[in-house]
Amino acid sequence: MGTRHLFVRFAGCNLACRYCDTPRDTPATCRVELVAGRQRFFHLPNPLTPEEVVLLVVNLLRQLRHGAVALTGGEPLLYPTFLRELLPALRQVGCRIYLETNGTLPHALEEVVDLVDIVAMDLKLPSSTGLRSYWSEHEEFLARLEGKEVILKAVVSRQTSKEEVERAGELAEKARAVLVLQPVTTRDPNSRPSGMRLLEMQEWALRKTSDVRLIPQVHKICGWL
Ligand code: SF4
Repeated sequence: MGTRHLFVRFAGCNLACRYCDTPRDTPATCRVELVAGRQRFFHLPNPLTPEEVVLLVVNLLRQLRHGAVALTGGEPLLYPTFLRELLPALRQVGCRIYLETNGTLPHALEEVVDLVDIVAMDLKLPSSTGLRSYWSEHEEFLARLEGKEVILKAVVSRQTSKEEVERAGELAEKARAVLVLQPVTTRDPNSRPSGMRLLEMQEWALRKTSDVRLIPQVHKICGWL
């Protein structure tokens, strides 16, 4: 947290979480920042080619050093063929690759895992997503990440159970990963966990694994994208 990342955002997702703030449809154009972090954009027609993305990334990196190029979504692993073309070119110009993923597409991960440096994987808890559980997909996914730097993130709500948090802690321990508990961003007071409840959740997880962090969505607090 706090490091400058250059984001490449992919449209579309295989899930539909209750709290999702990403548009479901692919927009006709892709917004590209003119100056890193200043929210001044120009538009290019979608879809971009891997070569176009590399040129845009390199141009922004010339302006400012970044800790990594973050692939985010939507779900980047919907596009493994595109990633297999994009990532070697980005690595060639010295980028570290940080993959953000919902952790439910282990077979797609297998196609690109050798090309990513850090993986930030969501643990999808039914209490906050409103969906079924994905524990078996998550386990399969994590099994393919041996040797990688892994961060696990679970969005938690007032309805999140002790059992879910403990299971998240167990998976983090097995994967030697940092576990981030992120309170759901919502105006609904019935969904938002209280400060005291968050501390309780952290305690449940800390009984299963050693590095558990409570981190809200920083970009929302700071008014970034
Ligand atoms: S996995 Fe992420 S992008 Fe997909 S629906 Fe859930 S919150 Fe939205």
